[in-house]
Amino acid sequence: MILAVSRTRVAILGSTGSVGTQALAILRDRRDRFDVVALTARRGEQIAAQAAEFSPTAVCMTDADPPKGLPPGTTFHRGADGVLAALDQTRPDIVLNAITGAAGLPASEWTLRAGRRLALANKESLVMAGEHLMQLAENSGAIVLPVDSEHCAIHQCLRGEDPSTIRRIWLTGSGGPFLHRPLATFPSITRDEALRHPTWTMGPRITIGSATMMNKAFEVLEAHWLFGLPPDKIQVVLHPQSIVHSMVEFVDGSIVAQCGVPDMRVPILYCLSWPERTPFDFQPFDPSRWRNLEFLPIDAERYPAVPLAYETLRLGGDSGAVLNAADEELTRLFLAGAVPFPAIVETTARILRQRQVRPATTLANVLAADRDGRTLANQLVATTP
Ligand code: MG
Repeated sequence: MILAVSRTRVAILGSTGSVGTQALAILRDRRDRFDVVALTARRGEQIAAQAAEFSPTAVCMTDADPPKGLPPGTTFHRGADGVLAALDQTRPDIVLNAITGAAGLPASEWTLRAGRRLALANKESLVMAGEHLMQLAENSGAIVLPVDSEHCAIHQCLRGEDPSTIRRIWLTGSGGPFLHRPLATFPSITRDEALRHPTWTMGPRITIGSATMMNKAFEVLEAHWLFGLPPDKIQVVLHPQSIVHSMVEFVDGSIVAQCGVPDMRVPILYCLSWPERTPFDFQPFDPSRWRNLEFLPIDAERYPAVPLAYETLRLGGDSGAVLNAADEELTRLFLAGAVPFPAIVETTARILRQRQVRPATTLANVLAADRDGRTLANQLVATTP
């Protein structure tokens, strides 16, 4: 008997970024199983070459006109609404959301409302609107699989486990480029120094977020929503080698960890293949190369973003959306040379503390909080000498 293998239809949002290009590198070798039906990016000619190779039904560029050389059968959509139009047109089985920042939220919402599988690399979606999105997923039966390496690790450690037996989870973080830099010199950190990440190659927003550890703060919120864990069951530990991607500690004293050399293709492939495991030609793992794995506690003075994550969860409501918006603006201002490095987290904390918390049960609530966070960030920077 021959069983027909149904092909999985995939949309890659943010196809020209780090996660997007790595996803396409995997899918290039798995055409027997996957069809790429939609590609979206902000701008750039690269998407035309991707479209020529994968012949998607729809392509969207949010900030640019159609690139030269799109295949004749491919529909072009433009603008932020164009991403949703491409999803409406293609109705993919899996949406890999690798859009950067708040711009990724509407596509996550679309996917969960439509009951499709969301392979989520855009953690900002959950930071901003975790309550709303997880409710949508529950209503539609949609599955959220985290591409974020730490959460993908936790997801794997929890397979077949009863969630009530979790004592706590341990999210690991490399500590970024400033783990050993004298604190007194933080105000003079330059853009280029902050953009040099020791272990992962990623886009500028998340690389700055790794230097401040705001990225880890976001991951605390992401874990809270994804796994339904209270803040006191979510721990963060520094692990500069980035080999142990995260751990789960169970009530019986067992600790389960997921490991590997840093390679985003592993979580991407996991999310595309789940619940199966798909073979891929990765370099064999050699544990003897990693004789010195270090684990260090978080120094809250060096990384004030980490305690700010717990404060955000305590504040509740729409605080996550404000946290993300303020950080997104301050990161942009830092990259433009308008504020010093420590101001990214300090100013974000001030905004969170001075603003009245509101509910975040609808997308409109969340987008209002997002606008507030941005306005307050720009106002504070403009009025601070
Ligand atoms: Mg991560």
